[in-house]
Amino acid sequence: MGSVHVMDDVRTAPLSAAAKKMLRVSLGEQREHADAQIATLTDSFNSIVEAAELVGTDDEHDPEGTTIAFERAQVTALLNQASADRDAIDAAMAKLDEGLYGTCEVCERAIGVERLKAIPSASRCIACA
Ligand SMILES: [Zn+2]
Repeated sequence: MGSVHVMDDVRTAPLSAAAKKMLRVSLGEQREHADAQIATLTDSFNSIVEAAELVGTDDEHDPEGTTIAFERAQVTALLNQASADRDAIDAAMAKLDEGLYGTCEVCERAIGVERLKAIPSASRCIACA
């Protein structure tokens, strides 16, 4: 743990070293979870695409085609969400490395350790969320 030079300590979240360590572990766990989720959803997406190719229909007017299009849209939405979660986790981990973690990206006030414990990837305080 090197020393972090703080330019403006008023705007820096007063996170203790222990809290940061704990939150880093949480972020690591969430990162693994997001990765696993993305892998599962990617598999689902691929099998839906394969199924569509097998059925040989992509016609929205065909009942089979509509179901496939719906399933594909659902999986795509979940995949986008999981990927956004992973990006948020990565951004939070990068901020931890830079010593900027725990500061609201909007008002630059401390996000608060309780909120970070609940949502380690939170980049905004409760007021700005
Ligand atoms: Zn804020």
